[in-house]
Amino acid sequence: MATTTQNTPASTNAAPSYPNQVTGMYILVKALQAVGIDTIYGLVGIPVTEVAYMAQKEGMRFVSFRHEQQAGMAAATHGFLTKKPGVLLTVSSLGFMNGLTATTNATVNCYPMIQISGSSVREPIDLEQGTYEGLDQLNVAKGLVKAAYRVNKPEDIPTAVVRAYRAAISGRPGGVYLDITTPCLGAVMDKADADKLIFTPVDPCPSVVPSDASVERAVKLLASAKKPAILLGKGAAYAQVDDKIKQLIESTGIPFYPMSMAKGLMPDNHPLSAISARSTIMEEADVVMLIGARLNWLLSRGHGKWNPQGQFIQLEIQPEEIDCNRPIAAPVIGDIESSLDAILAKLQGVKMNMDPTWVPGIQSESKVKNAKFLERLQVPTVPMTHWSALGSVKKVLEANPDVILINEGANTLDDTRDSVDMFLPRHRVDCATWAIMGMGMGSAIGAAVATGKSVVAVEGDSAFGFSGMDFSTICRFNLPVTVVIFNNGGIYNGIGVNPGEDGDPAPTTLDVKARYDKLGEAFGATTYYVTTPDELFTALTEAVASKKPCLIDVQLAADSGKESGHIGYLNPATLIPFTV
Ligand code: ADP
Ligand code: MG
Repeated sequence: MATTTQNTPASTNAAPSYPNQVTGMYILVKALQAVGIDTIYGLVGIPVTEVAYMAQKEGMRFVSFRHEQQAGMAAATHGFLTKKPGVLLTVSSLGFMNGLTATTNATVNCYPMIQISGSSVREPIDLEQGTYEGLDQLNVAKGLVKAAYRVNKPEDIPTAVVRAYRAAISGRPGGVYLDITTPCLGAVMDKADADKLIFTPVDPCPSVVPSDASVERAVKLLASAKKPAILLGKGAAYAQVDDKIKQLIESTGIPFYPMSMAKGLMPDNHPLSAISARSTIMEEADVVMLIGARLNWLLSRGHGKWNPQGQFIQLEIQPEEIDCNRPIAAPVIGDIESSLDAILAKLQGVKMNMDPTWVPGIQSESKVKNAKFLERLQVPTVPMTHWSALGSVKKVLEANPDVILINEGANTLDDTRDSVDMFLPRHRVDCATWAIMGMGMGSAIGAAVATGKSVVAVEGDSAFGFSGMDFSTICRFNLPVTVVIFNNGGIYNGIGVNPGEDGDPAPTTLDVKARYDKLGEAFGATTYYVTTPDELFTALTEAVASKKPCLIDVQLAADSGKESGHIGYLNPATLIPFTV
């Protein structure tokens, strides 16, 4: 085993004599490459600057941001879209904390990512003596992420990277925190010894094969159903088993309902799509097969409108997820690919018992609802509302189905999700399980970098505010990203009224007259300011075709949008009529 020549705090300033000597930072880069990671997102400073330079020198891509949280959102989106952990690099203390928000969000959403943060020298942190950016980062991270490790010795870096990698992608994916101390990053070793430490893990994401009994039970229940439905979640999208899902749905003829980030796994306009019949599925289905979807708040935790007699089959990798809200009649614990393989095999020759009126009923209900919805989008209201603007956005995005759609806001999120049909898997990324704001620019960058595809981010003006400065990152890296800002001048809308007398803006009021296009101009993007649906259609068509950084400021009416969008019921009853 190789040994460090210098690994005490005092030795970290000693420069290695290249090319025969290297530091822990070189080992880190090589260890990441050995697990197949080719991109790092981050923001540098003491003590990790040289990690990023080293990554570039060794042929990796380093995407440098203006805020760590956005770099983390990019890494998380990279992880969701590629099934490989996205990597975030942060500095100590505040940089670490800013990034941790994204790593925690990734954990909640089951996206694989690894946050690597430099941390200050241990001794004065542990003795609370007050040191530069001193914070016990490992213990802060624990509890918020799937796994957290600290590395103190450069010889341990490859092991730590492999452990972080395995933890991020195996079982239920999630965010992992890797703490590397300053002395460890700076420790000097002979390059030959360092190179010998690097290894590639064998079978880092092993299959989890479901038991035969669980598959048998699930198939029996599914076949017995009169009104079955398949509910697809983002775990199904993540699994990248699109053909098997299509085979299951088309061979059984069971209608499907996609959660927002599973949209496009099957085309939204597929004859078996029940996307416009959510209530009917909830109220009437007698057997619902959940594939990579949790029965959490987004599905009323299995209560509310759901048929109390309905039974659930759940394809899930995490055993303790089962029964957490409602008893599950047929859990199938395995990775979705193995579970679908087993289910498809067992379904051979099995007769379905579906009520012959079930699918036609959903289809005619959908037809009526879709026509009514479309009418709403076709009214060319000026000043624009969310709906009249989305009429144009829908036309352009549906003509360009390979564009990845990033979406956040309140009304902007809900209305865009409902309006824009998706036709390809993993082409929609949004604020997901936590329903958070502030993922837009980071996710757009992660999607563009990870896939090389064009991206359109449809943002509420409030949502854009959280990450807007990283529009400059889109420009610096010349990414094919168009940011569309729906400006109604506020959180929810721009007509809030301060109930006091001090003349300050209301808490929900932002800047309805702001010209966000000027912000884009500052960084060299192509920009547009549009006030009519036709102008928006032309601008977005041009922007997408350009494959360059573009920003479109969409002027909406200040009164377009309602409090909290579709989830206003979560706001405690307001005593003040705040939008009089
Ligand atoms: P949605 O919000 O779209 O309903 P969720 O994030 O609630 O989706 O659920 C995704 C579920 O998928 C999680 O419970 C996660 O454990 C599970 N999952 C993720 N990847 C896999 C996989 N490869 N195999 C099986 N289950 C998976
Ligand atoms: Mg707004």
